[in-house]
Amino acid sequence: MEQRLSISEITPLTTEWTCKVQPVDKFRPRDSRDQRVHFQTIIVQDVNEEQVCVILYGDDIRRCDNLFELFETYLISTAKVRNPQPYSLHVGQFEWIVDRFTIMESIPKNNEKETPLPPPSRLSTISFVDVAQQPSGVEFDLLAVVANCGPTQYTADQSKRFQEAIVMDKMKKPLFFTIWEDLASNEGAELLRQVRQLQEYPIILAKRIVTRLATRYNSTILINPLYVQATELRKWINENKQMLIEYTVKSSTESASSLNLVAVDDEILTVSAIATQTSTAATFYVEGEISLPEHFQRFYLLGCSECNHVVRSKIKREIQCINCRLPRMLIPKCHFEVEITDETDTTTATVSEGLGERILSMTAEQIYDITTVKNELLPVAHINQLLADKLFRIQLQRSSSRTPDKNAGSLVLLSYTEKPTMFLPEESTSVSGAKRIREDESILVTDAKATKKRKSEPSTLPKPQ
Ligand SMILES: [Zn+2]
Repeated sequence: MEQRLSISEITPLTTEWTCKVQPVDKFRPRDSRDQRVHFQTIIVQDVNEEQVCVILYGDDIRRCDNLFELFETYLISTAKVRNPQPYSLHVGQFEWIVDRFTIMESIPKNNEKETPLPPPSRLSTISFVDVAQQPSGVEFDLLAVVANCGPTQYTADQSKRFQEAIVMDKMKKPLFFTIWEDLASNEGAELLRQVRQLQEYPIILAKRIVTRLATRYNSTILINPLYVQATELRKWINENKQMLIEYTVKSSTESASSLNLVAVDDEILTVSAIATQTSTAATFYVEGEISLPEHFQRFYLLGCSECNHVVRSKIKREIQCINCRLPRMLIPKCHFEVEITDETDTTTATVSEGLGERILSMTAEQIYDITTVKNELLPVAHINQLLADKLFRIQLQRSSSRTPDKNAGSLVLLSYTEKPTMFLPEESTSVSGAKRIREDESILVTDAKATKKRKSEPSTLPKPQ
């Protein structure tokens, strides 16, 4: 006589049992480390949400390939029950081998005699705020919205594939998530397609990942899993779709291959609304065109070679620096004005030092040499040409100090990125493709003082060239 049992009631000694389960996690078939065994692991749970690992071997994997669909309901009878092997995932007290002698029955959604199991709710996820507190190496689960996804990349030695994504929770806290190897080629590619091509925001349940949010050998990623908690998150996505679309654009801007982990609440002001932004502490963004003004500029200031003190004089010489209280040489520091224009107004901001030198492709010494030693106009027509007809997202801040010709509170340009017009359709960026895009399209120029922080891994890995 068959008896309906729950997972915890079934032991290696139980005979003639049947258990109603639904798969809640599934690995792709893989080989054992010594390549001798081909197997697949599936985690199923019963009506009490007790869980057990089901393992398929060899030919049984193909025989069961239309069974064990995630969140579908099945009746399993008399699988082989054994103690978990040392290399197994330890999910329940035992593990089940489903082979050709096991009886399996699929329960369709609208079955009247046998009701399917309800959507699962048992999760051991942690919240985003607790991610940083996880001890390294400890595995945990995360339920998150994928706000952006980059193409497949390779480590410097080309041995490993990975993909970067930005995940987010309801608190709008974005975090980097690194997807490695097989998961990058499969789930990662699907996430890229959904986010970049369809502008859909998939929910992922990333299981058994580790701090710094990265997958490892035993991780899985479920896309839009049918959990009760995911339904709530889907509601939040629908209410915040516009913010997510803007976030995808904003976090994509730096280059084709890497993502930019920016905060969600960077407010974009119109140029005419900049006047309302009076704090010198905050940075803010406008979107507009950048050009060099027509009036004459020297493109440099002279300042102390050792500190930040600048002077009004334009001729290099030794001075007594009022900061250092020591004799110092004046050296040129790149410094000039740009105009920022959107459909509401035009305003002026200063650009200085490294950022300015990069815009002009010239060092401050070269600028001094042309404009003051040779007494010529700085050739800037080609700079205006480069900037023309492009839309930039520009990070500004009100200056907290005076300069020789500006009061405190004037605008300083901290960084700018060209706004991409459309997403990349490619799944992965070929080397030549990546180069082309880096040269022609979105180039981030940023001042060392800008507030943007880049994450250190795996971007620290040299990119393939
Ligand atoms: Zn000084």
